Amino acid sequence: MEANQEQNQNGRNNEQVIIVGGSAAGFYTAAKVVQGGKRVRVLESKSGLEPESRTLIVTNHFRKQLGASANESVLNEIRRFELFTDGRSAQVALNKPDLIVERAKLIPALAREARQSGAEMSFDTRFLGLSPNANGIHVQVESSGCREEMHATSVVGADGAASRVARTAGWAPIETVPLVQAIVRLPKDCPVDTTRVWFVPDDTPYFYWLIPESAERGALGVIGEDGRDTTRCLERFLEKRGMEPLEWQGARIPVYKRWVPMKKRLGKGDVYLVGDAAAQVKVSTVGGIVTGFRGAQAVAESILQAGRGRELLALRRELSTHWLLRRTMHHFQQEHYSRLVDLLNAATRETLSEVTRDESTRLLWNVLRRQPQLVLLGLRGLLLGWNSERR
Ligand SMILES: Cc1cc2nc3c(=O)[nH]c(=O)nc-3n(C[C@H](O)[C@H](O)[C@H](O)COP(=O)(O)OP(=O)(O)OC[C@H]3O[C@@H](n4cnc5c(N)ncnc54)[C@H](O)[C@@H]3O)c2cc1C
Repeated sequence: MEANQEQNQNGRNNEQVIIVGGSAAGFYTAAKVVQGGKRVRVLESKSGLEPESRTLIVTNHFRKQLGASANESVLNEIRRFELFTDGRSAQVALNKPDLIVERAKLIPALAREARQSGAEMSFDTRFLGLSPNANGIHVQVESSGCREEMHATSVVGADGAASRVARTAGWAPIETVPLVQAIVRLPKDCPVDTTRVWFVPDDTPYFYWLIPESAERGALGVIGEDGRDTTRCLERFLEKRGMEPLEWQGARIPVYKRWVPMKKRLGKGDVYLVGDAAAQVKVSTVGGIVTGFRGAQAVAESILQAGRGRELLALRRELSTHWLLRRTMHHFQQEHYSRLVDLLNAATRETLSEVTRDESTRLLWNVLRRQPQLVLLGLRGLLLGWNSERR
């Protein structure tokens, strides 16, 4: 009962916002909410702040979201994409560089920002469940092996793809896919400012990528549908190219298929979901950092009763466009990828370079306007998808 006593003593019991999950979405939400004047406590099941290393690629939007504190986690900048399929290739230059970010540096920076703004943090504290009470929400936790009860007016589930907050508050489970990447020595012929993407439909309906962290190292990864097959495919891919894995990274990533409502009323309190827990992941590229921060901004605005819900609308539009792109490409066969890479002509490449992947509706519209044949290719992809879903 220690946590309860502490809350009662400082007399702000009724205002507490509990955020479950001390990672990207949780700490970002914590900073925004505490800066808005609410009392915030972050619960994290791990015993300390030692996030697993993960090499991430994010769009330039990341800098706008984090400001100067973005710099300490940025390892490299990407100015070009090279797309490969079946002996063909296309290049896309980026006007605004993508950023390569190290998660093990990002999470402590976000935690520091939240803590300096006044958020409290409880590590080794696992969320177990919640229930409504007279003034808000009872939160059951296990902290250093002991069961405790806490009280909150709002609970935010930032506890990842297998969110227990979502489950106990009655949200439906979300689908996930495996993502595996290996840290490798960067091949001599791969420029440090270039990300490589390979479409190999026999291996995966998604793609392989190589993102350079530095002139020496890069992360070579793949998204698949079955965990073991995905690792095997990556091992084969590495072997074919004579690359040695120096380190492995991986986890299951949510697949956004439909909008997950971010808020539920529970008695006199509110429960929210954010980040992977709400499947706020761009399903065409499986990027969840920038969209998770956008979700966090929307949750913070709702808790603080600020803003006009624009962030949420924009995020929803964004995620839906990526879902449309994924549905279109999910059943592409080799001939379609070959055609796609051929169709990425100069005009199309110009569009891709002007607009970032976090402005997908604008990007899609511009690409289709300049290269209408892609509409036919897209429709074909959708029809292939519908046919195979019906079978
Ligand atoms: C290998 C890999 C590469 C990726 N690459 C990219 C990329 O290039 N670009 C990109 O944008 N995204 C990428 N992603 C996705 C991105 O990492 C995730 O979308 C993002 O980290 C999700 O953050 P989150 O805070 O929502 O959830 P998580 O990072 O999963 O954090 C959830 C937190 O909740 C805690 N927790 C869970 N259950 C409980 C509980 N019961 N009680 C208390 N705490 C709990 C966990 O310990 C964890 O700290 C990648 C993912 C992987 C696995």
